[in-house]
Amino acid sequence: MKQLKQLISLFVLLILSQTVLAAGGAVKSPTGVAPDRYVYYPGTEELDKDEIRLFACGTGLPAARRDQAATCWLVETGNGDKFLFDVGTGSMVNVAALMIPYDMLNKVFISHLHTDHWGDLSTLWAGGWTAGRTGPLKIWGPSGATKEMGTAYAVDHFLKAFNWDMQTRNFKLNPAPGKIEVEEFDYTKENQIVYQQNDVTIRSWPAIHAGDGPVSFSLEYAGLKLVIGGDTFPNKWYIKYAKDADVAIHEVFLTPTELVQWYGQSPQQALGVGTQIHTSPPAFGKVMSEIKPRHAIGYHFFNEEGTRFGIYDGVRGTYDGPLSLATDNMVWNITKDEVVERMTVSPDQAWSVPGATPPPKPLTEGITDPLSDEMKAGKWNVKDVQGEMIKEFKKKYDMK
Ligand SMILES: [Zn+2]
Ligand SMILES: [Zn+2]
Repeated sequence: MKQLKQLISLFVLLILSQTVLAAGGAVKSPTGVAPDRYVYYPGTEELDKDEIRLFACGTGLPAARRDQAATCWLVETGNGDKFLFDVGTGSMVNVAALMIPYDMLNKVFISHLHTDHWGDLSTLWAGGWTAGRTGPLKIWGPSGATKEMGTAYAVDHFLKAFNWDMQTRNFKLNPAPGKIEVEEFDYTKENQIVYQQNDVTIRSWPAIHAGDGPVSFSLEYAGLKLVIGGDTFPNKWYIKYAKDADVAIHEVFLTPTELVQWYGQSPQQALGVGTQIHTSPPAFGKVMSEIKPRHAIGYHFFNEEGTRFGIYDGVRGTYDGPLSLATDNMVWNITKDEVVERMTVSPDQAWSVPGATPPPKPLTEGITDPLSDEMKAGKWNVKDVQGEMIKEFKKKYDMK
């Protein structure tokens, strides 16, 4: 009996000590540094050579919400590379809060051309141009059933739509970071390599979603495999090529009932969207039970009190493995030994951080000033109030 009591108390102690560790290191001094807080502070942790860090910078829906932006994943690999997978509407505020120099955020992979997966390209493109990117933005994305449905067409016309923005910035800033290079690849190809450099391999395969064109991606680095599903109905290619994933991201959508109750959709629309265009919670669970990843991540729903239990119950009915139901600013550290999920603690008022290379100097030669003499002639005289400030500034920076 005594032995049993001892065994029980040892067991309780073990559980307690684990709980304490999970919440951060023990605080041993009231004036010292509290070690190992169970959150991620941007820019304070080195990435191991054999490690991948994954950020959820957008996990929500096309309808805007302050708490959750639309789809965006940022992947950092131990070799120093960074990759954005989708830049959905609103997501750049979360990316910016990580205070990574814009020059390091120049590689974007787009899963498909719904705005909730690339709507914030304008923010990355123009914002990064004004805040330190030194060269062109590079985009990889799928073709479509016709030329007009592909990524190259979309980006070409994106730049046309933002022509006024581009022309006016070209004159004031250096035009180089305002350029976009596109690599469009065949959306029908299975497990094709779309990127391979510095020990990182990125592959794509078709996804089934709304129309022809969407793809899923995998990223392989240091013997680790991360799968970024994009939007898709459960499909045979995901089952085949995501099978040995260390971390597998797949959409899990609001239940039809939640779509009616919270999203204001008609029952007919909710059933179609929730079970035919997107992946329902039990279907997500079936996919994960089949591919058995080391860790599964579900996203693409507003994650809150009213929704998450319905989604969780649906998933848990068909899958009992390791699981994160994502929300914005979750971060995962992925190694051979473990997958650790935490939340990022970042500032609302982040500034852009300079990188190793200073931004290129403005280049006005050969570019027409988009502001006419007629408009310039309308400037009101403020020399009397800012003349001194300009003089001091020029002196400080040794300007002519
Ligand atoms: Zn979509
Ligand atoms: Zn979507």
